[in-house]
Amino acid sequence: MGLNAPNSKYFCLYCNCQSELRWDMDQNFENSGNHACNVKGENRKPALFPAINQENYIPDELHLLLRIVDVLMECFFNDVIKKKEFEKKIKLEIEQAMQNIKVHFEFFKSRSTSGKWDWTSLMGPDKKRVLEHFPISQFISGTRGQEIEKLWKEFLRLYKVLRKPFLSDQEIDAFEIDAKQWIRTFYCATEGRPNSISHKPGLYRKQDVTPYMHVFAQHMHQFMRQLKMKNLSLRYFSTSSIERKNHDQVRLFFGGTTMGGGTEKKSEY
Ligand SMILES: [Zn+2]
Repeated sequence: MGLNAPNSKYFCLYCNCQSELRWDMDQNFENSGNHACNVKGENRKPALFPAINQENYIPDELHLLLRIVDVLMECFFNDVIKKKEFEKKIKLEIEQAMQNIKVHFEFFKSRSTSGKWDWTSLMGPDKKRVLEHFPISQFISGTRGQEIEKLWKEFLRLYKVLRKPFLSDQEIDAFEIDAKQWIRTFYCATEGRPNSISHKPGLYRKQDVTPYMHVFAQHMHQFMRQLKMKNLSLRYFSTSSIERKNHDQVRLFFGGTTMGGGTEKKSEY
């Protein structure tokens, strides 16, 4: 779409936010378009469809769900894969916990990243089930486990708001506040000295906040208001049905090859 790469300095289609400030929820980034790349030395690619007004590029809610859950799962797995008992014990327990909530899920050694652990890429409905039911606190003890579990459930709640066919102004206002607060909880800072009673480690790092998370917390509420004025909602713009077809096609195709269906390569977004 004439976008800069997600890892470029001015990564966002909708504003001039710089990549180092993706996590910043105390500033408001208006849906004004990205103009910063016209500055000398920053070469923004021209729009792919110049006839389409920028405000009509609506972010796809399904991809927000898929990519943000990828981040949450990766952060969680990075915590547990480091543990000594991962391969012999925890790996099987996680696979079993997934099976208990009727999600087909496996870890496998990746061929492309020299033997690092990779895992089954899940579709939207499975990802929602994992957010709602996966027992994180069985695998991460103490308040950290409980807080991560809350973080997952709160994201699902916010996503369901995003999908509602009708939203009141108050619901959109609340969404804006809660989505920003959700990002703050995601990267909340470590408090207190290590080993002291008041020590409370943060969940994840500011740099773990991705461009999709920035769009989710900074721009979606603006689109929700804009669409509401036109009596529309985000779900009209979802690509869910096309994704389902793509997934089925890929599974049918690879199911007949040595790559094996069901353990598709993780998406590279
Ligand atoms: Zn932005």
